[in-house]
Amino acid sequence: MFFDTPFAAMQAAVDIVDKSPHPTNKIAATLYGLHFGLSRTNYWPEPIAEAFGTTQDVGNSSGTVHAETACILKAGTATEGSILCITDPFCPNCAKNIVEAGVKKIYIDHKGFDKDFFQRRSGHFHSMSMQVCEKAGVSVFELWRKDERVVPIFESAPGRFISEDSPIYKEPIETPSDSILNDIIASSFHLHQKRKFAIVFATDVSGKHFSLTARGHAVTGFTMEDPEDVKLIETPQTKYSYFQEPVNRLLMYMARHGLKPVEGFFFCSQVPTSREQVNLVGAGIKRITIGDIRKSRDSQGLAAMRQLGSAKVLKYV
Ligand SMILES: [Zn+2]
Repeated sequence: MFFDTPFAAMQAAVDIVDKSPHPTNKIAATLYGLHFGLSRTNYWPEPIAEAFGTTQDVGNSSGTVHAETACILKAGTATEGSILCITDPFCPNCAKNIVEAGVKKIYIDHKGFDKDFFQRRSGHFHSMSMQVCEKAGVSVFELWRKDERVVPIFESAPGRFISEDSPIYKEPIETPSDSILNDIIASSFHLHQKRKFAIVFATDVSGKHFSLTARGHAVTGFTMEDPEDVKLIETPQTKYSYFQEPVNRLLMYMARHGLKPVEGFFFCSQVPTSREQVNLVGAGIKRITIGDIRKSRDSQGLAAMRQLGSAKVLKYV
């Protein structure tokens, strides 16, 4: 599908929102660019729905993939510079994914601000989600479909450039193999010392193979050079953080640049968080290699691994 206005794109999201399998929080989004467009609702990835149904959490994460993140993971083409229309204000985790995926503008349907669901959770939107967008230079608008009107919530300065402290490292490789992966893992352990990192092999549209390496890092636009940012990053938040985990960074980087993961070559130096593991399943990943199987950001990551591993949703090597 192609869209030439955010109004048409928002309408496409509104048209499918009732199809969301979620019993109470039905949310839909449309992501589009010059050459692509798709709409998705929030949903449970099939392997998770089959194994745990729709009421059980995976670790401390719900088993759902949010509509915004679903659009990014399923875009199938580079999401850099794209536009996202959402029926509801977005959560901080999606904000982090949206900025990492290179989305430049977000429109939120005005009706989303009136819903009960939002009234209960609006704190996270106004503090964290918006702060993440502002730092990353992503513009956010409220949209009225009926009178085709938008009002900026935050508008980024044109041509603003955001530098990254810890860019993802990309290098071309020959045909993916375990021995190439093992070599890169060994040199990465040396390079990153005790920091958490992840590696994936990916293919571009022309079939060339690459190795991508990411460290966990503050969300795009936040920097460890700024004492104010450091304070924020290091202050524990309730359920969310200003930190972007390395597996999520890789998933979003691949979406941003239109790269596809090569099945069987995803590595993380420790057990990913519950949310990362759910996103991996949502991205269609079936197998992940772990450096230290006893280590995770929190005990919930380990719990999620036991759950997904024993139900054979994800294979841990
Ligand atoms: Zn979300």
